[in-house]
Amino acid sequence: MAAMAAKPLAAAAIAQLEADGVATLIGTVVNPAGLIHAKTVPLRRMGSFADPGLGASPVWHVFAIDQAGIVFGETTGVVGDQRIRIDLGALRILGDGLAWAPGSFFDQDGAPDPHCTRGALRRVEDRLAEAGIGALVGHEIEFVLVGADGAPLPGHLWAQYGLAGVLEHEGFVRDVTAAATASSVAVEQFHPEYGVNQFEISLAPQPPVAAADQVTLMRIIIGRIARKYGMRASLSPVPFAGSVGSGAHQHFSLTRDEVPLFSGGDGPAGMTAEGASAVAGVLTGLPAAQGVLSGSILSGSRMQPGHWSGAYACWGTENREAAVRFLTGGDANPYGANVEVKVIDPSANTYLATATILGLALDGIDRGLALPGEVAVDPSSLTDAARAEAGVSVLSNDQSAVLDALDGSAAMRGILGDPVVDAVVAVRRYEEHNYGQLSPDALSEKFRLAWSV
Ligand code: GLU
Ligand code: MG
Repeated sequence: MAAMAAKPLAAAAIAQLEADGVATLIGTVVNPAGLIHAKTVPLRRMGSFADPGLGASPVWHVFAIDQAGIVFGETTGVVGDQRIRIDLGALRILGDGLAWAPGSFFDQDGAPDPHCTRGALRRVEDRLAEAGIGALVGHEIEFVLVGADGAPLPGHLWAQYGLAGVLEHEGFVRDVTAAATASSVAVEQFHPEYGVNQFEISLAPQPPVAAADQVTLMRIIIGRIARKYGMRASLSPVPFAGSVGSGAHQHFSLTRDEVPLFSGGDGPAGMTAEGASAVAGVLTGLPAAQGVLSGSILSGSRMQPGHWSGAYACWGTENREAAVRFLTGGDANPYGANVEVKVIDPSANTYLATATILGLALDGIDRGLALPGEVAVDPSSLTDAARAEAGVSVLSNDQSAVLDALDGSAAMRGILGDPVVDAVVAVRRYEEHNYGQLSPDALSEKFRLAWSV
């Protein structure tokens, strides 16, 4: 019955999209290795892509980043078939006859597939709602423009955050901005970053699943426009060894009954008691969460003090060397107080990274965790003894240790579910096993375009 009722709706939507010039619909899913997979249908098949969905093997969850690897597992083998259903409520027009919608995995009876990363975030969002908590997430997308073959582009005119970068890539900047506006993505700002040919786009806060969907959409837009100019966007955490890394920082804010938890309280930096416990949950969970937030073979080279990647496991107001940077509300921060998790890099699956952070925050609230004191200086400037006394450690940059911590974490398994954690550990261990012996140069070159679209 539901399917029958959906049909006239789909027909009306198809007619509208046809009138908008759409001929082809792209549906995407993001796998535990951070790869974006896609199927396309002619517009008339839109309704079927939404329900019952298109078939896909369970091995999609364990495709590796080297263009060929499949890490077979007990539930991710050659037998079985799933359905990818696109979410028509999130559909956006891309232009040039294309539209896009994010997809989720279901089994053939319509039950959510426990490997689905978008589904994992949806579950965390539901859990928060059941606890009476609302969440908003704002994403930062950092990337480095490279040649079509991944070769570095000239950087003769470049200063850190320099105007030269805007003018060198004027057409790219203009077209990405216009395409984002046309696809209704709320870009907050777009600027040259520190590294040569590195840019950053920040997106306005949205509810968690919608926010993560927009990261995929933005990557599509960036990829399409870069191509127009004969370039590609590297989404590697370290596109060039020994050079600046790219992060995928996420900002989040929480409310209970519409009342912010990160301001107006009498806790540290104006947080409420629940807000402080949420931050404590994230902070305490970081070592086990790293495998999801920054667990790829290249993530460790970025996770170093002095790189603004949040390598120190501590929190601090506006502290860019802290894994957790706190931003107070006020006139200068119109979205209100929020928490930035800097550890995340673009090799991570965005849905899982958000599910992890918000899941840890909820755990912190449930357990009433106490927040350690804030670190108000660059932790590198402290002596080892002072850091130890303040309980500030450096996050690991050893992939193997990071994955063991994730694998053995009951908290992470509780948040994401065993199938997701097992798949993440499997695809990341494959990277370490097959490529762990490569030099930093060879590694960054091999995977420079691994996450590009
Ligand atoms: N590129 C830095 C990173 O890898 C972040 C720089 C910034 O704070 O914007 O995380
Ligand atoms: Mg940045």
